[in-house]
Amino acid sequence: VRRIGVFTSGGDAPGMNAAIRSVARTALHMGIECIGIRRGYHGLINCDVLPLDFESVSGISRQGGTMLYSARSKEFMVPEGREKAVGTCKLLGIDGLVGIGGDGTFRGLLELSKLGVSVVGIPGTIDNDIACSSYTIGFDTACNTALDSIDKLRDTMQSHERCSVVEVMGRHAGHLALYVGVACGATAVVVPEQDIDYEHDLMEPIRRARLSGRTHFMVIVAEGVEGGAYGVAEKIREATALDTRVTILGHVQRGGRPSSRDRVTATYMGYEAVKLLAAGESNRVICLQDDQYVDFDIADALSMKKSLDQQTYSVMRALTGMEQVRLKDQ
Ligand code: ATP
Repeated sequence: VRRIGVFTSGGDAPGMNAAIRSVARTALHMGIECIGIRRGYHGLINCDVLPLDFESVSGISRQGGTMLYSARSKEFMVPEGREKAVGTCKLLGIDGLVGIGGDGTFRGLLELSKLGVSVVGIPGTIDNDIACSSYTIGFDTACNTALDSIDKLRDTMQSHERCSVVEVMGRHAGHLALYVGVACGATAVVVPEQDIDYEHDLMEPIRRARLSGRTHFMVIVAEGVEGGAYGVAEKIREATALDTRVTILGHVQRGGRPSSRDRVTATYMGYEAVKLLAAGESNRVICLQDDQYVDFDIADALSMKKSLDQQTYSVMRALTGMEQVRLKDQ
């Protein structure tokens, strides 16, 4: 392996820069040249590249976003587009590619591997929704960013004795909402993976909290929940007549300085990815499992399903009062 390429694709996540730096520096350490490909598959198709040397990735780990930009490419979804991408690899003499992104990015890598390009994926998404890995780069920073905003919201909710319904990102998954809910001490958390009985699981915890003297309430809703935060807020308003306000945290959760956990995880994953390519491996995804960095076949990884962490969900229910209400009813 003489020359590899690295790119970021799909939604960006804090820590992607640390992964780019690690890929570039590990490659250089092994005597392999590293080319940065800008704007994901779009850049691969259009030969939008910049060679990465030791200095060009200096100091980027502490920055949010991705220095290589990220994009979604419709052209890459059709065979002609993918042929052009392979053409770029041939033109530049790229022997291997590291793609940092989510499921969609891995599907793209799988297609490229079928066309003879060696590929390795690194899970980078704030949603933590990659089934083969217990952790994805960006999740920790996104949790902390959401918490910062929620702590501030709590101040004003408290002053006005309101109910705050906060929508947290996560696409179809509730991992981020659940962790944020536990960390901020929410009154209740609503995620798409778990059906809840609104009367028992949401209104009663609010009423119980009110009866014990609380006058403000924090409800965390994952964006994948049907009706979103506005739908949940409407239900609360109707059932309790509380002054209920919706806050959608949105894309701020994707930004900010990466936490130490994201920087270190990204650094390890970048290192492992290059090691695999250098060893002649292809079609793998780097994953974290039981605190170990391991790798999986991409197709196998894509066929796995990730369920919500039931232990954390149980802890959340116990601490919010959602579980207690049920036990009392029985
Ligand atoms: P996030 O989880 O943040 O959304 P992602 O990697 O899943 O990240 P996508 O937009 O789904 O983001 O995918 C990124 C890009 O990967 C797409 O724009 C497309 O170019 C490519 N891609 C996705 N699915 C496929 C597929 N089935 N075949 C080929 N390429 C694909």
